Amino acid sequence: MLENKEPTKTPLDSLGEFALIDHLTKSATTSLPSTVLGIGDDAAVLKHDGETIVSTDMLIEGIHFDLAFMPLKHLGYKAVVVNLSDIYAMGAQATQVLVSLAVSNRFPLEAVEELYAGIHLACKTYGVDLVGGDTTSSQQGLQLSVTALGTAPKTGAVLRSGASENDLLVVSGDIGGAYMGLQVLARENEVFKANPKHQPDLEPYSYLVERQLKPEARKDVISLLQDLKVRPTSMIDISDGLSSEVMHLCKQSEVGCRLYEDKIPLDPQFINVCEEFSLDSTTIALSGGEDYELLFTIKQGDFTKIKGNPNLTVIGHMTAKGTEPSLVTRAEEVIPLKAQGWKAF
Ligand code: ADP
Ligand code: MG
Repeated sequence: MLENKEPTKTPLDSLGEFALIDHLTKSATTSLPSTVLGIGDDAAVLKHDGETIVSTDMLIEGIHFDLAFMPLKHLGYKAVVVNLSDIYAMGAQATQVLVSLAVSNRFPLEAVEELYAGIHLACKTYGVDLVGGDTTSSQQGLQLSVTALGTAPKTGAVLRSGASENDLLVVSGDIGGAYMGLQVLARENEVFKANPKHQPDLEPYSYLVERQLKPEARKDVISLLQDLKVRPTSMIDISDGLSSEVMHLCKQSEVGCRLYEDKIPLDPQFINVCEEFSLDSTTIALSGGEDYELLFTIKQGDFTKIKGNPNLTVIGHMTAKGTEPSLVTRAEEVIPLKAQGWKAF
């Protein structure tokens, strides 16, 4: 039998900062006309038509991710995707990203290469250019910060504040999967700690685990809405959980809303696993997080344009200023919506 060779582990400090940056970014060729100059100078040079959209997010080891069940390549991919999701949530096209990294000596070069493989893959998948960043050492753990840029459509960015009474509330995809994926991974990790010989069978949970480890941003939904000639009146991406995002739209648009429990799109695997964990699927769908779907409002007149599209579900409607955001349960009870967003603190 072949012996398993120990993977190579090159200490990071054997390269030095400049060689490390070169090594990680050599495959970051740029392709967009709006990228005039990418990595290599003191700053990147960009040339956008119209409004530029910018967003940034930090990911801290132990707070936002656990490397026990998040492979580094997935982490790199996800770090870019969650930032692109914010750009799409403005109705914009994502164009460039910058990635800043603080990493301790605990990580060999090969680990950072894995992280960058994920970053490069996400850039390629979404057609964005990696145009810069910063690299430094940290005393402990891994910290990542990604900044994403994009361009708004000619009609301007879609804000959270644009919803009016009677607008329809629409969500893309299905909700809650990423949270249950995390529950499955955490459970398998506990079993593994007790018995390292245990081989987890994640097959029955494949969709949910993928939602957690390899989320996708809904670039396709932005294109779809453009093709359908639907301009959302307000929009947000679902990073913290459906109910907290609905409340953001209501608060910033100064309207109330009615969200219908029986309309919330749930995947069959999600429903099964909620049962297995004895968790209420509606509660998880409302308060879980990290789905990175788009939540938006449209004029009632646009309903026929989106009707029947498998990617989009109408889950409610906005109500008059001064009314409460509320949930209409399956039993037709009307209860106030609570913001139970996923909190980092
Ligand atoms: P400075 O000392 O001026 O900050 P650096 O040596 O940090 O310059 O960076 C050199 C170039 O490499 C810049 O274009 C910078 O944006 C890019 N860069 C540095 N670190 C990263 C990284 N982790 N990912 C992508 N680009 C990076
Ligand atoms: Mg620098």
